[in-house]
Formats: sequence, structure tokens, C-alpha cells
Amino acid sequence: MCGIFAVYNHPDASQLVKFGLHALQHRGEEAVGIASSDGNNIHMLKKRGLVGDVFLEEDCKKLPGNMAIGHVRYSTRGGPSGTNTQPLFAKLPSGSIAIAHNGQISNSYELRNFLESKGTIFQTSTDTETFLHLMAHSKKSNIWYKLADSLKSVSGSYCLLVLSKDNLIVARDPNGIRPLVVGEKDGALIVSSESCAITFLGGKVIRDVFPGEQFSPDMFKDKSGCFGKLCIFEHIYFSRSDSVLEGRSIYESRIDLGRELAKENSVDADICVPVPDSGIVSSIGYSKQSGIPYEKGIVRSHYGRSFIQPGQVLRNRKIWMKLNPVASVLNGKRVVLIDDSIVRGNTSKKVIEMLREVGAKEIHMKISSPPIKFPCYYGIDTPESKELIASSMSVEEIRKVIGCDTLSYLSYEGMIKATKLNGCCDACFTGKYPI
Ligand code: AMP
Repeated sequence: MCGIFAVYNHPDASQLVKFGLHALQHRGEEAVGIASSDGNNIHMLKKRGLVGDVFLEEDCKKLPGNMAIGHVRYSTRGGPSGTNTQPLFAKLPSGSIAIAHNGQISNSYELRNFLESKGTIFQTSTDTETFLHLMAHSKKSNIWYKLADSLKSVSGSYCLLVLSKDNLIVARDPNGIRPLVVGEKDGALIVSSESCAITFLGGKVIRDVFPGEQFSPDMFKDKSGCFGKLCIFEHIYFSRSDSVLEGRSIYESRIDLGRELAKENSVDADICVPVPDSGIVSSIGYSKQSGIPYEKGIVRSHYGRSFIQPGQVLRNRKIWMKLNPVASVLNGKRVVLIDDSIVRGNTSKKVIEMLREVGAKEIHMKISSPPIKFPCYYGIDTPESKELIASSMSVEEIRKVIGCDTLSYLSYEGMIKATKLNGCCDACFTGKYPI
């Protein structure tokens, strides 16, 4: 999963992109890159690490121009190597471009094999590079048409920002699986993976980019249109709760996920405690619906996410590094413990152990989504089926592994009712892949 952000027509474009990426940091913590154009040349700077830590004030001075695109990376295809950091740059005969991509190309191996058979030499292992080579092979006359031509052979999920020396092109895949939103600030056009980064800058959200839409700022129109198959996991976990996607507030969605969970799975308990931060909003919803008091019984240190660092060894260590129980809240209590999802089961197991150590009397774990049984091929880094605990175990078997007194998940119907998504991609729960 990644976050992308663009600013067009602003004297401090790269600085605004830096702040936008900071607000999208939850979408990827591995690396950050910004490319700007001053009308003659494209400038680029890429670094590994968090935006606020590694992208310094003076870095933006190296990125002049009134348009810029940026990317925060969390590797799915291609791994965390430095060469995969985006934006990627290419010199085409029709001009240089930089490209930033959120999503995952489903037919990337076929396309890569085809391009390599034609003599293409790939420099990275990320599927994003495929767009550059498809454009280089296209016989169309300019960058706009080359991109449109290339996208015809790509399937999967993509939100794309393409920067040339004098233009910005924005494109979203025909299913609209990953989110992309357009906004405005001081006359500048902004494009962002999520609305939270637009409002964070004091900008105004205009609308979502439509599935299958390709536009440049001079042709952008504020009009209404239909929505596609937005990934439901954006509502459950990935997007920030201050974002609004396709008109639905993520916060409201999560409150309702918690409410539905309470309606479906009531239990006698003293307190309702979220696994922070992912379970916080749905816990509030659960507490409102059930009347069980909400308590912040686990404190999270905000230095890194457990899951977002690929590799099992680091992952386990980070769960411990970031979460700590509040003994005075939990001791002797019957706890409803809420999280948004269970993937491999590591987090829940460790958290339950933690709560037992400080004397929680009963632990009733509740998950505000159905069991994740199928991998995602569209840009969320869920592991292959064999690592997904719910793909091979029943709820009761999972309960035994993670060690709680009871375990319940929200039903599929409850999830759809709460998110109000119609025709979304829910393949990780159902195995029904839209592409
Ligand atoms: P696990 O420990 O593997 O069961 O992971 C579950 C935890 O990771 C939950 O707290 C989720 O909020 C969080 N999570 C779920 N999916 C993802 C993802 N794709 N990337 C990062 N974190 C995730």
C-alpha cells in the first residue's frame, strides 16, 4: 500500500507535497520521494524513512517549480529495496516523466515478460516500472496518449500521477479499487490518495477521481459520476478516520462497524478497550451501542506500525515496542477487546497475553470485520492464504491460538450495512476477485 499526492500550480508545490505526504504517512513508512517540475526540468529527491524525519526544509529547495508529485511507499510487489522508491523517472523521446503509483498490477509478470522479450531492461523490481516501459513502447504521439494507450493493457489496481515538464496527468483504474481524491487550495489543484491530506493543508475537497478517469488539471471538471469497486479494507483499516471516501466518512463507517458488532455480539463486560489505533473508532461505536464504558486500556507509542515492516522477526518485536497495557484500568476487569482485523494472529495473541499479565479477568475479543481468508492482489500487503490464520482455522480454533475467552467477528452483512459501500471489492473476505 502506498500514498500519492500531487500539487499543480502553486509556487511552493514541493513543500505542500511534503506536508501532504506527511498526512498520508500511515499508507507507507518505508520510503518517500518527491518530483517537481520548474517548466524546463524535472527534479527529484527520494529517501528511505518517514517524511518528517528524512525530508528536511532545505530538501524542498532542491525541488523547484509550481508542480510536484510525491509518494510514500509500503512495498507489496517489488520489496523494500531503494531502487523501488518512487517516483520513478524516465526519459521518453516525447519528454521526461516522473510517475507515482498506488496499487498493484495483476498482470505485471505477463507484461514484464512481454516487454523483456522486446528487449526492455528493467531497473527495478516494482510493477510501477511497467507503466514507463509500456509508454516507451507506445507509438502514440505524446505523453497523454501514450499513457492512455498503455493503460489498455494493464489490469489490476492503479492510481497514477504522471509529471512531465509542463503537465500533470492523473489516472485511476476502471474499477476504482484504491482511493484518489481531488481538492483545491489557493487556486492550486491537489490530488491525494485520501481527503485527510487535503484538509490537513487547509484545502477544500472537490470530488473523488472516477474509476477509469484520466485527466490533466486544465481539463478537470467538478461533476458527479458513478463509483466503482473501492476496496472495503480502506474503510475497515487502511484509510485515516478523518478521510471521506466516495462521500462516506471513514470515521462514521467505523463507528457503525462497532455498532453492528455490538448488535450482533453482545456480552456482559465491565469495559470496552480498543487495540490502538486500529480498533479505536469501532470501539467507540461498540461502547455507544452496548453501553459498556470505553476505556483506553492499552497505550500505543507512535513510533512505527507493527505490520508495516516486512519480515516476521521485526514484526513481532514491533508489536511489543509499540503497545503497553494500563494495569489500573484492566486489573480484575471483564474486557471487550476490539480490533479491526486479524491477519496472522500475532497482534491479538500478544495483546491478550499482555492483558492477562496485568490481571484482566475475562477477555472477549471482537473484530469489526469478517475473517480475512483470501490474499489481496490489488495493493494491500496481506500475506498468501497459508499465513492468513482464518483461511485454515475456524473461529474457535483461532480463539484457542490467540488465547481469549470468546472471539467473534462482524458478519459480512453487518460490514456492508456499516460501510454503506455498494459494489466494493471485498475479495479478502469473500474470495470473489473483481478482476
Ligand atoms: P496480525 O498480527 O497479523 O493478525 O495483524 C493484525 C493487525 O494488523 C491488526 O491490528 C490490524 O489493524 C493490522 N493490519 C491489518 N491489515 C494490515 C495491513 N495490510 N497492513 C498493516 N497492518 C494491518
